[in-house]
Amino acid sequence: MSKGLPKRSEDYSLWYNELVKKADLAENSAVRGCMVIKPYGFSIWEKMQAEIDRMFKETGHTNAYFPLFIPKSYLSKEADHVEGFAKECAVVTHYRLKNDENGNGVVVDPDAKLEEELIVRPTSETVIWSTYKNWVQSYRDLPILVNQWANVVRWEMRTRLFLRTAEFLWQEGHTAHATKQEAIDESIQMMNVYATFAEEFMGVPVVKGIKSESERFAGALETYCIEALMQDGKALQAGTSHFLGQNFAKAFDVKFATKEGGLEHVWGTSWGVSTRLMGALIMAHSDDHGLVLPPKLAPIQVVIVPIYKGEEQLAQIRAKVDEITAQLRAKGISVKFDDRDTHKPGFKFAEWELKGVPVRFAMGPRDLENNTLEIARRDTGEKQSFDLSGDVAAKVEELLNDIQNSIYQKAVDFRTEHTTEVDSYEDFKKVLDGKGGFVSAHWDGTAETEDKIKEETKATIRCIPLDRKEEAGVCIYSGKPSQGRVLFAKAY
Ligand code: AMP
Repeated sequence: MSKGLPKRSEDYSLWYNELVKKADLAENSAVRGCMVIKPYGFSIWEKMQAEIDRMFKETGHTNAYFPLFIPKSYLSKEADHVEGFAKECAVVTHYRLKNDENGNGVVVDPDAKLEEELIVRPTSETVIWSTYKNWVQSYRDLPILVNQWANVVRWEMRTRLFLRTAEFLWQEGHTAHATKQEAIDESIQMMNVYATFAEEFMGVPVVKGIKSESERFAGALETYCIEALMQDGKALQAGTSHFLGQNFAKAFDVKFATKEGGLEHVWGTSWGVSTRLMGALIMAHSDDHGLVLPPKLAPIQVVIVPIYKGEEQLAQIRAKVDEITAQLRAKGISVKFDDRDTHKPGFKFAEWELKGVPVRFAMGPRDLENNTLEIARRDTGEKQSFDLSGDVAAKVEELLNDIQNSIYQKAVDFRTEHTTEVDSYEDFKKVLDGKGGFVSAHWDGTAETEDKIKEETKATIRCIPLDRKEEAGVCIYSGKPSQGRVLFAKAY
């Protein structure tokens, strides 16, 4: 099976697309830019969702649901917001079809034109703030800490499975606060939640930072983000958290009576991660044989493949496997016994390797005799024989921990090797055309320079890292003074 997978070094982009399809994660649909997330892919997404949702609840948020459709007039209420999203909006104009008089199936019924056109939500700030107007009167009604899990539509022109699709699944948090500082703290907190999730669960190291003005969310005063590096040296924006100031409160007239008896506009934040995280997960760890999943997000953590001739041997193996499975499940480890008689062991090995199952057991007649089994780990391919008189569940726990840590460390090392400080535009271009990755360089802080660099090299400012050191310097492009280094990269 893995024979069909192209090599990363030869065609990274083709490798990614083929992997997504062959590992049964997702496929393209009839509508360009929209995807079908297949059961195996969806079960990984569900595990991500569950963890993220748990983290939201731990930080005091609750889920709610708002409508898919937004009246067109709402979108126009915040000027920057509408400008940012107008070019990628899907619009509903009619509510009925009718039979075509010429017998060509159905056509839009011109008599069923909507009075006001509806936008399929590209993000929900407008519909949510129009609701918050009714929810907030006094400081006692604040804060509102709400999240929704939903689908959104942005009519993207260049799409790619998971990374950029026209319809995608995500969560969007929308909070309302009495003070500016509380809203800023909330947006930073949620960026930190995303970073913790990416690093501890996905095993993907991220840089926390703020976006330059041109990359900022339309309608925000500040966009905090986490940026990850993929194996081809390109960066991926993995999550964003926006400090909205009072922009949406002003647009939708959301005011509250303060403790002191005044009347003020509410402060807001919004934050989101999407099915793009699936793309990050796939691209960060996988290899030429297929997916490599972090144990904490793998739907199946251990797969057991029997090697047998005849029913009797299978029954003997099954009895052993049942014991082992019970021990593993008691520790919360997910196990699959692949006893399909329609496929040979070699085929099964390749299939589970392609699907990234962290640990594989194989058990054959000799193992039965010796009371052993063979353990193989997906990330390194290492194999060992395990004596079943030992504690197999403890062994697997240790192995899963080790895999989780070592794929993270491998990604950290890769990022370290692919983060380069440069002090001249020549070196900047050399690194971008060579090994790629993050390039840390001085920038004069203007959108003009940022645009020129993007035009000439395709690299964009991924973020101004939050932990950057104060270091005066000169802009690599304009030679003008710079307050500190920013991270550039070519990005997805
Ligand atoms: P935004 O609302 O633009 O800040 O985006 C919120 C999150 O959704 C970010 O983490 C983006 O990386 C992600 N995202 C934006 N556009 C897409 C898309 N077309 N497909 C998948 N994810 C996206």
